[in-house]
Amino acid sequence: MKCFNHHERDAFGICKVCGKGLCLECMNNEKGIITCKSNACRSKVQQVKIWQIVLLLILLAGVIMLIID
Ligand SMILES: [Zn+2]
Ligand SMILES: [Zn+2]
Repeated sequence: MKCFNHHERDAFGICKVCGKGLCLECMNNEKGIITCKSNACRSKVQQVKIWQIVLLLILLAGVIMLIID
């Protein structure tokens, strides 16, 4: 696979959001999650992270309720 922006370069990673091939220059590493540098993809990853935290808190609340019961 080649970089979406540089057709002569090999892709080093793939954007988790839009699936485009990315070279090192075009890659954005958001704490281990690779995306392209477009704002749309970067904000999507942040949204996913917020949801993961919310789900974790709900899960934790459920476990605490079970223990208290
Ligand atoms: Zn992308
Ligand atoms: Zn590139």
